[in-house]
This record gives sequence, C-alpha cells and structure tokens, in this order.
Amino acid sequence: MLRFDNIVFGPIHSRRLGASLGINLLPEHGKLCNFDCIYCECGWNKDGLGDRSMPQTEEAADALEKKLADCRKDGVHIDSITFSGHGEPTLNPCFPEIIERTVALRDRFYPDAKVSVLTNATTVVKTPVFEALRKVDNPIMKLDASSLEGVMLVNRPSGHYDLDAVISGLQRFEGDFVLQTMFLKSPQFDTSAASNLPVWMDIVRSLRPREIMVYTLDRETPEKDLVKFSVEEMTALVQPLIEEGFFIQIRG
Ligand code: SF4
Repeated sequence: MLRFDNIVFGPIHSRRLGASLGINLLPEHGKLCNFDCIYCECGWNKDGLGDRSMPQTEEAADALEKKLADCRKDGVHIDSITFSGHGEPTLNPCFPEIIERTVALRDRFYPDAKVSVLTNATTVVKTPVFEALRKVDNPIMKLDASSLEGVMLVNRPSGHYDLDAVISGLQRFEGDFVLQTMFLKSPQFDTSAASNLPVWMDIVRSLRPREIMVYTLDRETPEKDLVKFSVEEMTALVQPLIEEGFFIQIRG
C-alpha cells in the first residue's frame, strides 16, 4: 500500500498535475480518513497501524520551506504543491493555517506553481475548511456516488454523512473547483448503473465544476473483485456531459 516517509515528498510525476510536490498532513505510519473507500490506495482504516500524530503548522511549514529552498537551489521544476498523503488532509486541525503558510511559501519560492488539495469533500461544510479551500488553485473534490446508499457502498463513511449537505457545500464554490469521480464496479455498486450515473450527471450539471476528473482503478485495492472501466467506456458514459461543454479529463 502507498506510504510516504516525509511530510513533504517528491516531486513525483502526476499526469494531471505535472511535477507534483506532495504534502502529507496525516500520520506518517498510519492512515486517517473519515471515509474508508473500497479502492483506497492507503488500505483499510483498520490497518492504519494506530499512528494518530499529525504535523502541526510550524512543523509542516518548516518542512515545506526547506524542501522548496532545496528544490529551487537545485533547479528542480515544480508545477504543483499538492496536499494528499495517508488520508483526508482537511482532518488535520491545522489545515487552514497550513494552507495560508503554503500559499505564502509558494509565492516566495515558486510563484508559478499551483497549490492543489485532494479532498473527499466531507469537510466543506465547515467554514474554516471551505475558506481555506477557496484560497488554493485546485480544490479537487471527490464525489463517487450520487446517492447515500452508493456512498455507503463505495466510500464507507465513518460517522454521520449527509450527501445533500456536501452538495450544498460544493455549490458554494460557484463552479470554481475540480470534481473527481472514481468509476468502478464492485459486486454491490456500479458507477454506470441507471440508478447512479444519470443522477450523478444531474449533480454535475447543478454544480458546474470548471473541470471534472473521471478516473478508474490503478493500483492494488483493499477490496478485491473490483472491476475497472476502460477509457473508451468512460468516454462513452460521460459523452452527454462532453457534448454539453463540460471539460472532462478521463484517466484510465
Ligand atoms: S477518501 Fe481518499 S484517503 Fe480516504 S479512504 Fe477514500 S481514497 Fe482513501
């Protein structure tokens, strides 16, 4: 399973983001997420090894400053400073403060780089997180299923989850965000099902994200028996949205 040894790692090549310098605000030796997706590259939450310690603002900012200074000295190109790592980055209580420091460091060392956050969107309902995400260039928000039943099968949220509240939270971005949706089939859930896909498309139409990232399984997954879609299949499935003018990146 995917593991990062440092708070700041890379840059690694990302097809979507280019040379991406990663930031892991989650426990170094564990996984911390309020979802437990059947396809998570970090494995099941229960296998998170029990490490709950997360970097605080100074530690994260110091690590990023040092890495950016080293990269600039060595002439390393960076397209994006990307929050990802072992779980959901917005669960770090220092997330809003760390975003402020990151934007300032980006402006100082790599003014042309983007700041990107990969998030499962559950915390957009919290004003400090929403406001922090408004400050980054690429808030990349996950929405894998169009019903609470689907979310329960694919994302397996821990605790209370309110899909309507998350969609309302996403509305507040007024389209200025990237929507990310995993396309897969499991014995219980099929992204392309008539009960899911048309409703997902209507949610997309109501949110009008500036970009949509449709992707499928790539690495080892904790749940077995998952089936991926081909690029051709995904392209055919989202064709109505393409014809309506939505910008959709499809990644196999
Ligand atoms: S939201 Fe991301 S980190 Fe959390 S379980 Fe799902 S894939 Fe893993």
